[in-house]
Amino acid sequence: MIRLSSSEKEILSKIGAAADALQIDAYAVGGFVRDKLLNRPSKDIDIVCIGNGIEFAQKAAEQFENPSKVNVFQNFGTAQFIVDNFEIEFVGARKESYRRDSRKPIVEDGTMQDDQERRDFTINALSISLNNKSFAELIDPFEGMKDLENKIIRTPLNPNKTYSDDPLRMMRAIRFATQLDFTIEEKSLQAISSMADRIKIISQERITDELNKIILSPKPSIGFKLLEETGLLPYFFKQMVDLKGVERRKGLGHKDNFYHTIEVLDNIAPNTNNLWLRWAAILHDIAKPATKRFEEGHGWTFHGHEWLGGKMVPKIFKQLKLPNNEKMKYVQKLVRLHLRPIALAKEEITDSAIRRLLFDAGEDTDDLLTLCNADITSKNPEKVKRYKKNFERVKEKLVEVEEKDNIRNWQPPITGEIIMKTFNLKPSKTVGDLKLAVREAILDGDISNEYDAAFAFLLQKGEELNLTPQI
Ligand code: ATP
Repeated sequence: MIRLSSSEKEILSKIGAAADALQIDAYAVGGFVRDKLLNRPSKDIDIVCIGNGIEFAQKAAEQFENPSKVNVFQNFGTAQFIVDNFEIEFVGARKESYRRDSRKPIVEDGTMQDDQERRDFTINALSISLNNKSFAELIDPFEGMKDLENKIIRTPLNPNKTYSDDPLRMMRAIRFATQLDFTIEEKSLQAISSMADRIKIISQERITDELNKIILSPKPSIGFKLLEETGLLPYFFKQMVDLKGVERRKGLGHKDNFYHTIEVLDNIAPNTNNLWLRWAAILHDIAKPATKRFEEGHGWTFHGHEWLGGKMVPKIFKQLKLPNNEKMKYVQKLVRLHLRPIALAKEEITDSAIRRLLFDAGEDTDDLLTLCNADITSKNPEKVKRYKKNFERVKEKLVEVEEKDNIRNWQPPITGEIIMKTFNLKPSKTVGDLKLAVREAILDGDISNEYDAAFAFLLQKGEELNLTPQI
């Protein structure tokens, strides 16, 4: 039986009273019912009535003391208002039919059964009655309850029809399987595999919306494996598919970078809900296929994959219709820097190398470390242990140098203004070169991070360039 909180019970019974007053049947349906049965929080309630959804919404709003304004969407025959932080959407029961070349259905009024049949999965077709005589009774024509218990994603109708009518449902199936850790029924999986190419009629924005929900799930690898196995992934994210496979030469192989990448993504998931940090995990090795070489006497190398990867980020963001803004720049930066902390761990850790890393990573240093920690994967537990230990040393050293030098968000003590005034220069390349020279000298530890030392160094550099100070 469905367990409602007292505020949910109050809200739904008021909506039921409005239905009784209009003498129509009304139901809560879809995600809200599913999430209640799974004990997941849900603040969106979809209401279906056998009648006019807009009139019903208006009547329902009258039952509450402080509802928001009722927003009416005439074109869709829907209306919505907010009460007690619940967003409630109203619609009349519908019957939908589809043409093959479009996901835009022809919509007609229908019965509750019609409405449940047009839903994507049995677990999303569950509804509860709201009328007083049958309040909170479950209506489950497709055994959605059983599927919830057995953790199965199944379509109410023949899967070929459900997916062909609206191919976005293929992404949704994989998204729900990932979010809920459910299994997609075999017949459904086969249907998805056989019509994967129909995803082409769906807009990239909608596909990416589902992809981001997969990425934000507790174990995103479930979704990426399914996207790869069903053949959906190449239609929108070919670069990820290219990571797959292992080449062997002279008895030497390398990691399968597809499985490595999704392992890194799973590793980072418990440590961050930042979508963009998770994207950095997905893209950190994206240029490995393009930079792969076999070097005699050495084995497989991927030189420069972090730089090329950084260059690929804007293109991939554009292709996936992800934003072209500071989020993209952040992902790009992390991809470029992802080897630096690990490389440091392998060498004698000098203060100047640490300062340089802090300067380059700036306020994203902690996120970079979270990424690098997730990137340590190996089948050999001894190796993982050793890497993690070295990595801890780098982290300690970062804290130590940061406390001493405060490099994050740091600006050198000598500005361009000071340089121009000192040598009576106009803005020019020389000013930029001098500024860079001072910054590098501080980061390398050749001079201390303070004004006097930096100014003396500036005068010395000026002399080398035959510049005369104006003081
Ligand atoms: P979430 O809130 O986690 O995104 P949801 O399923 O609860 O998932 P919506 O995507 O808003 O939320 O969908 C609400 C309901 O509408 C679903 O539970 C399902 O019954 C139905 N639905 C949504 N999209 C489709 C679709 N493409 N095909 C069929 N039914 C759909």
